[in-house]
Amino acid sequence: MRLTVIGTGYLGATHAACMAELGHEVVGVDVDAGKVAALRAGRVPFHEPGLADMVARHTAGGRLRFTTSYEEAGAFGQVHFVCVGTPQRKDGDAADLTCVEAAFADIARHAREGALLVGKSTVPVGTAARLAAAHGSEVAWNPEFLREGFAVEDTLRPDRLVFGVRTRRAERLLRRVHAPVLDAGTPLVVTDFATAELVKTAANSFLATKISFINAMAEVCEAAGGDVRRLAEALGYDDRIGHTFLRAGVGFGGGCLPKDIRAFAHRAAELGVDLGFLRAVDAINMRRRDRVITLARELCGGTVLGARVAVLGAAFKPDSDDVRDSPALNVAARLGLDGADVTVYDPEAMDNARKAFPLLGYALSLEEALRGADLVLHLTEWPQFREVDPGWARELVYRPRIVDGRGVLDADRWTAAGWRFRALGRPVPQ
Ligand code: NAD
Repeated sequence: MRLTVIGTGYLGATHAACMAELGHEVVGVDVDAGKVAALRAGRVPFHEPGLADMVARHTAGGRLRFTTSYEEAGAFGQVHFVCVGTPQRKDGDAADLTCVEAAFADIARHAREGALLVGKSTVPVGTAARLAAAHGSEVAWNPEFLREGFAVEDTLRPDRLVFGVRTRRAERLLRRVHAPVLDAGTPLVVTDFATAELVKTAANSFLATKISFINAMAEVCEAAGGDVRRLAEALGYDDRIGHTFLRAGVGFGGGCLPKDIRAFAHRAAELGVDLGFLRAVDAINMRRRDRVITLARELCGGTVLGARVAVLGAAFKPDSDDVRDSPALNVAARLGLDGADVTVYDPEAMDNARKAFPLLGYALSLEEALRGADLVLHLTEWPQFREVDPGWARELVYRPRIVDGRGVLDADRWTAAGWRFRALGRPVPQ
């Protein structure tokens, strides 16, 4: 089929490449001419395992093209997927729908007769119905659940597909687009617009709640002298609870969970439904960043003023260079404001971190970040950080003090190597 993908960021670039992989002819559209130029040259302007190869292969093979022209996209596509950003509004918790509205208006103006406009962006419930009423073209909603770091795998082999449709024809078209994925046995839920929109915000709210639940238990462990790692292990053996998303740490960040739960609570309140628990989920999450700062101060004898702090991690999660609402950079920047001499190192996210926080210090290697440090903060769970030899690191730093903000380092090993070791929700090692 001839598809277009409008908005070629993390979601759109992945979707465009994966649709080409499924055998479709695809045109990616973006208003950012720099991004389009990079993608045309087969380069992906962000880190996502496996994606660059796929984009290069399909742009070279001619199945995947990129443009800034809606006219070209409209003339080409039978189905248009809208994947533009829906960030948090500057003036509050609601989602900013400016890009979604502009993209639908522009593609509707240029689309061929009978083309289907499919929203994939995460939007407040009611958006699809409003867009369908505003534009002549047929609309469907097909929310996306991919995880950064696993985006290609999640798109080609998703846990499920959700089609929000109003007609059999829209369902048929979406079934044809996804035929290879459906043939592989992927579960499909066909539903109305509102439910399709809500599945996405409900899923993110559930995941955020699970993370904040265990982080709230970490707070109780800190107050009562328990060990949240053991607690989570024991909880997770219950099949009804499970082990996933139950690791206490510095909390969630990124371009989705924080803004999505805020927008959902806001939208629910507009509809007269009080989702106050999501505000508590958000507050617990933000308090974990405060806790890392408290531990940093404690380890530095009451103040971080003048301390050389090595921050391991800048991306909001491993296998990504995305620094949107990154807990690691938030903590780094706040310690910088407190007078610490902060040096950040991340295997992939250095360029984005420098752009977002130009005043922080940056190291070109893990070794350089550690050298001469008074305090080390482990804040993004990259495998190379987890595998650091505490004895090797001990030789590099000035003072061996570390906060494990991700709850994965072996406290006994670090302590045995001479480190003062602190983690969230865990007792101080003896
Ligand atoms: P992003 O900021 O990486 O990409 C958005 C892209 O849209 C940018 O390249 C921007 O230039 C482009 N754009 C903006 N306005 C445009 C317009 N009018 N026409 C064409 N292009 C336009 O954002 P993202 O992370 O890819 O997220 C996109 C949407 O997908 C959001 O609603 C997000 O919540 C949702 N989502 C993201 C993920 C994820 O892991 N990143 C997962 C599932 C859903």
